[in-house]
Amino acid sequence: MAWRSGGSTNTSLIDNLLRNGLLNSPSLAAAFKSVDRAHYAPTDPYADSPQSIGYRATISAPHMHANAAEALLPYLKPGGKVLDVGSGSGYLTRVFAEMVKPGGKVVGVDHIGELVEMSIQNTRKSEEGAALMVSSVLRFLKGDGRIGLKEEGPWDAIHVGAAAKGLHEELVEQLAKPGRLFVPVEEESGGQWIWVVDKDASGKVTRKREYGVRYVPLTDHPGERT
Ligand code: SAH
Repeated sequence: MAWRSGGSTNTSLIDNLLRNGLLNSPSLAAAFKSVDRAHYAPTDPYADSPQSIGYRATISAPHMHANAAEALLPYLKPGGKVLDVGSGSGYLTRVFAEMVKPGGKVVGVDHIGELVEMSIQNTRKSEEGAALMVSSVLRFLKGDGRIGLKEEGPWDAIHVGAAAKGLHEELVEQLAKPGRLFVPVEEESGGQWIWVVDKDASGKVTRKREYGVRYVPLTDHPGERT
């Protein structure tokens, strides 16, 4: 079904995701419509499929972005703070910024410097994207996202766009009370599952295993020894 959500324009892609029940929130749909996926996906930007962006990275399929954003929706509010680990093309990071403005803060972290630069250039393709970066609502940084960004936390929402080996306790520690982590986790069997980790207002943590997925792995920098 997911593969039938593609469209000939950005608007028709999002309308098809809505029609197929892959996207339900009107505020999220408006945010997705305001960001042209063609600024971030080099080929077939309006197909509902992942696309290679070089450096062994992909921009995830639109229905995967929709799932992730829906899962984090209660925490994507004006003034909110969001960390996007493995921000790659910068597309979803930019959509998060649309949700938390005015006054919020979104930081995308990727360990490939060229991709960080690409995400900045992609975002500059629209005046609105450029303005979000000038006002520091949206920033892209190079770094190992597995350790999060403690000095700027706590985060209302943390999205991880690559499959982790575990639930990354450092990221859970950096969640606000309340806050939510969305993370694909690679299991010993080789399969990957989405986990949603919630921290409530008292600091109590609950973990839920959701559905099977296939993401690029969260790794050491390719230039480093493993
Ligand atoms: N959300 C992005 C997904 C990009 S693919 C998008 O839809 O465009 C996953 C990304 O995770 C890649 O860009 C890869 O460089 C990055 N990545 C992998 N391991 C990482 C790590 N340890 N720290 C930061 N980024 C990492």
